[in-house]
Amino acid sequence: MPNQAPVVPTDDPRTVDTGEPAIRLRGLRKEFGSVTAVDGVDLDIPPGEFFSMLGPSGSGKTTVLRLIAGFELPTAGVVELDGRDVSRLAPFDRDVNTVFQDYALFPHMTVRQNVEYGLRVKGVPKAQRQERAAEALRSVHLGEHGSRRPSQLSGGQRQRVALARALVNRPKVLLLDEPLGALDLKLRLAMQTELKALQREVGITFIFVTHDQDEALTMSDRIAVFNEGRIEQVGTPVEVYERPASAFVAGFVGTSNLLRGPAAEAVIGRSGVYSIRPEKIRLDERLSEPATDGETSATGAVTNVVYAGATVRYEVSLDAGGQLSVVHQNVADAPHRPGTRVRLSWRHDHNFRVPDEN
Ligand code: ADP
Ligand code: MG
Repeated sequence: MPNQAPVVPTDDPRTVDTGEPAIRLRGLRKEFGSVTAVDGVDLDIPPGEFFSMLGPSGSGKTTVLRLIAGFELPTAGVVELDGRDVSRLAPFDRDVNTVFQDYALFPHMTVRQNVEYGLRVKGVPKAQRQERAAEALRSVHLGEHGSRRPSQLSGGQRQRVALARALVNRPKVLLLDEPLGALDLKLRLAMQTELKALQREVGITFIFVTHDQDEALTMSDRIAVFNEGRIEQVGTPVEVYERPASAFVAGFVGTSNLLRGPAAEAVIGRSGVYSIRPEKIRLDERLSEPATDGETSATGAVTNVVYAGATVRYEVSLDAGGQLSVVHQNVADAPHRPGTRVRLSWRHDHNFRVPDEN
């Protein structure tokens, strides 16, 4: 989309840097009866960031989003937008817009009318309304589809209309709750790239909720990993993947590949819990070969082989105890078979110690 005018004009007040984070959460809590959905969340998100909230179902992501949008009021704590406490304000008094998974377009309206709808409710004059809707539709590559009805669009196109409908309001912050969840894999991957490009272009702060680690890693400037209403770690994709702050993060962002207890002592030579990413491990059948300098090695038996075309995943039961997954690019002619005795080796610096929660 390099040749298009940005959706946000440069004289827009949003581009004025107030020095405040776009969003600041302090001690945020939400209880529903006896359920604590959000259990003390602190977070600063700078303007223009593509920020993801990643975590399993039920970990409180949607509730945090709804607290930011104003659809829920906190049991305790503060929501600030651009340095202003909005904790008690109604949704329409907050400069944010939300895109949900079930994007609920009006079926009897055209695409253009759907996008203009919010502006019409706000009483924006017709000419300006049309201009802004056209601009928003262009930014999501639907400039030619304004006169269609939602039923005449594909799933991906409908999701883009939902995006345009939010962008047309020119919010400071766009909240997206699993917006790609209903799309098939190929379309989802394409939309991930597009959404990221769009975010760069419009410069709006995106808060993107997903339970899909690949999606979060691919798209985000930073990620917060949620577990049971709390944030376990905030960091760049590289930080949360390469240096997980807890065993939970190591297991959720990537495959749980941990050595602990006697297995860690035997293989790594130290006690503690260690995470080793499956793609860092080499696997071969030269059992008696000594470990190279700077490398950790272990022997074991292949217990399971998962052939996935481009990669092959092996589950290996170590002689020292414990189980490791190994992912290999599919360069070999035939994968090793279950039952094969193998040697695993990886660099010492790929042993990453994680805090032991128990
Ligand atoms: P996520 O989006 O990460 O899947 P949610 O924020 O939707 O998680 O939910 C967090 C927890 O709060 C869950 O246990 C959920 O059942 C509970 N919860 C969410 N909304 C409500 C509600 N309106 N009433 C009661 N419990 C709720
Ligand atoms: Mg949710």
